[in-house]
Amino acid sequence: MMQKPCILIGVPVQEGAGRLGCDMGPSAFRTAGLATELRRLGYTVEDRGNVVPAPLRELRHANASIKALAETVAWTEAIADAAYTTSREGVPIFLGGDHSLSAGSITGLARRAAEEGREFFVLWLDSHPDFHTLETTTSGNLHGVPMAYATGRQGFEGYFPKLHAPLKPENVCMMGIRSVDPAERAALATTGITIHDMRAIDENGVAPLLDAFLKRVAMADGILHVSLDVDFLDPGIAPGVGTTVPGGATFREAHLIMEMLHDSGLVRSLDLVELNPFLDERGRTALLMVDLASSLMGRRVLDRPTQSYRHTPQMNPYAQANPS
Ligand code: MG
Ligand code: MG
Repeated sequence: MMQKPCILIGVPVQEGAGRLGCDMGPSAFRTAGLATELRRLGYTVEDRGNVVPAPLRELRHANASIKALAETVAWTEAIADAAYTTSREGVPIFLGGDHSLSAGSITGLARRAAEEGREFFVLWLDSHPDFHTLETTTSGNLHGVPMAYATGRQGFEGYFPKLHAPLKPENVCMMGIRSVDPAERAALATTGITIHDMRAIDENGVAPLLDAFLKRVAMADGILHVSLDVDFLDPGIAPGVGTTVPGGATFREAHLIMEMLHDSGLVRSLDLVELNPFLDERGRTALLMVDLASSLMGRRVLDRPTQSYRHTPQMNPYAQANPS
């Protein structure tokens, strides 16, 4: 079976974050060796360079706190196009850029899945739900709205691109949540989004929580997108982010999630977002994110029998590299 190529798409958007620096993220991921790691795993890798935002339109909103609305909308249009196009050709990996990127990636991927007649699911790894609408945001930083937009909440019409296929809230699983604003909390209570906050992870461990979600995706013969925000991780291991929140996922919790995702064979695309190289320490956060992406794409420490969610042949690069 021909392996689909990994398609790297740089998205140097920083206007959605509260501080500057995420525009250097794509460069840092490239410098940290993501393409090399993926090739080592046996993939063909195509680096498509960086997305260029669509032309700016003048946009005004009654919520005066909103920052960079026109710029964020212009990025969203271009990213959604890139996601829609590349998801037919391979496994797109979006190198952010702040999390407003996902307003484009998720909606473009959802459109593709709908055209293929497949259920579309999102695993959202973040300390924040990013579930504000344009009305409820008080910081005005639009990296806090992509999940609300992608799931079709009210108030984005006339500003953000029209949704081809809204993401079903019940097809979203959030893990690592530990910073939620009151308006988001109220809105989340009425959706069908599955939320595993850090307390749930403390009490259960990541494995049973993720396992239940993966089984749902597999049962629906679904397509899974993973959106990984740096601040999902504990700031002690991932300092290169503008929104550090204490008490995040550990190194092993994060790797276990990635290893289980690979074993599932369900993942078709990935966002790596909120890396701020200006705040990083000698590239350690960029390197950790590349390590996690490699785990998701199949790097493993030892060969071991794994639970298969779908009966498709899994690539095992370790076995190939070590025929003994
Ligand atoms: Mg986020
Ligand atoms: Mg976050």
